[in-house]
Amino acid sequence: MNALPPASGCAPELATLERAPILRERGQREVFCGLTGIIWLHRKMQDAFFLVVGSRTCAHLLQSAAGVMIFAEPRFATAIMEERDLAGMVDAQDELDRVVTKLLARRPDIKTLFLVGSCPSEVIKLDLAKAAERLGTKYNPSVRILNYSGSGIETTFTQGEDACLASLVPEMPAGDPSGEKELLIVGSLPDIVEDQFMRLFDQIGIKRVGALPARQASDLPNLGPQTRYLLAQPFLAETAMALEGRGAQRLDALFPFGAEGTTAWLQAAAREFGIDEMHFNSVIAGPRERAKRAIEHSAAQLNGKRISFLPDSQLEVPLARFLNQELAMEPVEIGTPYLHRTHLARELELLPQSARLSEGQHVDRQLDRVREDKPDLTVCGLGLANPLEAEGFATKWAIELVFSPIHGFEQAGDLAELFARPLRRRDVLRV
Ligand code: SF4
Repeated sequence: MNALPPASGCAPELATLERAPILRERGQREVFCGLTGIIWLHRKMQDAFFLVVGSRTCAHLLQSAAGVMIFAEPRFATAIMEERDLAGMVDAQDELDRVVTKLLARRPDIKTLFLVGSCPSEVIKLDLAKAAERLGTKYNPSVRILNYSGSGIETTFTQGEDACLASLVPEMPAGDPSGEKELLIVGSLPDIVEDQFMRLFDQIGIKRVGALPARQASDLPNLGPQTRYLLAQPFLAETAMALEGRGAQRLDALFPFGAEGTTAWLQAAAREFGIDEMHFNSVIAGPRERAKRAIEHSAAQLNGKRISFLPDSQLEVPLARFLNQELAMEPVEIGTPYLHRTHLARELELLPQSARLSEGQHVDRQLDRVREDKPDLTVCGLGLANPLEAEGFATKWAIELVFSPIHGFEQAGDLAELFARPLRRRDVLRV
């Protein structure tokens, strides 16, 4: 196990990390691949289609994770690569053209088509960027054709969303680079949560607000030096780099989890846009108070309880901060697949020094540490939950935190409840 020195060039406030060495783990991983992001992205982008170029395994993953859609026209599918494709007996690019032509002829509602790479397409080095360019020229301007990789070789779980959003960045219109500042919310949020944030920004007095991803292809927001962006998700490193490459500036903030995180996130924008502090406070006072009261319902269950996170969604650091700051839980180990020291700087500052941080995965070592630490609650992937439960540990599926609306004031109580429920169930079973 190697201690990882603080990365050079990161925020000066990270000096505190020198006292809490970060474990860097490199070993067997137990995480979904980046294809999983399609499950929530296809719901968000209502005229987009995700065509995975992959194997039957990829198709099974998507079908079992998303369920079978009976009433709606599906908005994702897998172009299954057969043995003759893999053996190079047919030209895979020709096959792909044939599938895409058929799909777009049948589905004129598709305005953005993502060609999504997988492990098999990567292994045979199928050039999806070339395919997207060729097909894009053919279908421009009625359909935008983009590509990204969701393969398990290159991506874990939430990195699929990062790769997808990064592929959209070059498509964003420039707007007026010397015009008024514009705010951009970055990260896929359930529509209901996005609408709540949009209403709050409007009441605060920030009028020019866009979201990436947009619900419709035609609504892609402007991007340029006039853009100030707020990350809504902590796993968007590649997207952030692409946005900054176009001149956008990130607003440094906590992530919008819980009453405190949401306040800080909104406040970062309010300050940048010169909003009067008293006005800001009066707008958020009501929802902030409601969030605090809702969180309070889970306090008795969670106060003082010890929690460990196994690396999964990259939400681990901000969620641990929320549970510690607002529910007095004690994070024992916070494991995360990747630790973005700059995007998470404010979150890391607030974590207790006693919390052990680990980056990457070595599942056996991490399970050994869980057994030694004996936390009251362990947040982990589906595959690890049952074995841990069988050993007597209370667990929470990390994937539920990705699929549930958990951002913002109105969801803060539900977020706390997601952690309280397994402990309550355990208490009931013990009686
Ligand atoms: S992309 Fe790779 S890891 Fe993901 S389902 Fe397909 S084969 Fe499995």
